[in-house]
Amino acid sequence: SGRLAGKSILITAAGQGIGRASAIACANEGARVLATDLNADLLAGLDGIETQVLDVTDLAAIQALAASVGGLDGLFNCAGVVHNGTVLDIQDKDWQFAFDLNVTAMMRTIRALLPGMLERAAQTGTASILNMSSMASSVKGFVNRTAYGASKAAVIGLTKAIAADYVARGIRCNALCPGTVDTPSLRGRIASAADPVQAEKDFIARQPMGRLATVEDIVPMVVYLLSDESRFVSGQAMLVDGGVTI
Ligand code: NAD
Repeated sequence: SGRLAGKSILITAAGQGIGRASAIACANEGARVLATDLNADLLAGLDGIETQVLDVTDLAAIQALAASVGGLDGLFNCAGVVHNGTVLDIQDKDWQFAFDLNVTAMMRTIRALLPGMLERAAQTGTASILNMSSMASSVKGFVNRTAYGASKAAVIGLTKAIAADYVARGIRCNALCPGTVDTPSLRGRIASAADPVQAEKDFIARQPMGRLATVEDIVPMVVYLLSDESRFVSGQAMLVDGGVTI
């Protein structure tokens, strides 16, 4: 039983942060979850959930995975990297990496897994793709987020194009746009700032509710978008941002 009972769902970057919390929440709602991550150590301890190492920037690995998993009901592309800096700070290799991981890997994962999802949707009527974007994207500009914001804006464009192409064949495709979420990589960004105490204050100050999001603030939207409760929702960039974009 559960809101995702009977569904097979694959999640990328499920080793920590939003992806990990999503894997646990989906399993708790009855889904069969395949949690994948670049880092095998982080996948340990996801009890009762199938795990597999997957570097989403490895095209051959994505193709091999697609050949081994059957038709999925849900795919959550959560992998992404934050590049810090203005346009004057960007090195070409950083820009390239932001797009390789945040956009190209996502496109390739969908391209590899969509045929199986289309077969599944032909049987069940529906399958759902969820792509991790951010409030820092086409939605809103933030300081020091040039490569990140540009790549996360591309995620929204990718999402809408896929939604348009496959809406009549039962595939829904949406983007998730969180505000600032307290995760290991956010803690890393705070710790590596020149003044970590001030950096944390600044992250909190841009959240009008006066606090960072926890992963538990975000996962209900993940479960909703992967479940049939969102059956009339596609092509949307769903903000869960604690009021930043009010
Ligand atoms: P995180 O950044 O702390 O963890 C990222 C995970 O991705 C790690 O487990 C890491 O091993 C994995 N990973 C890195 N490279 C990978 C690759 N090539 N292939 C597969 N896995 C890889 O987690 P988070 O902060 O929850 O971020 C997850 C996603 O959410 C990212 O796309 C991020 O841009 C997005 N996001 C985060 C926030 C935030 O404030 N934390 C806000 C908006 C959007």
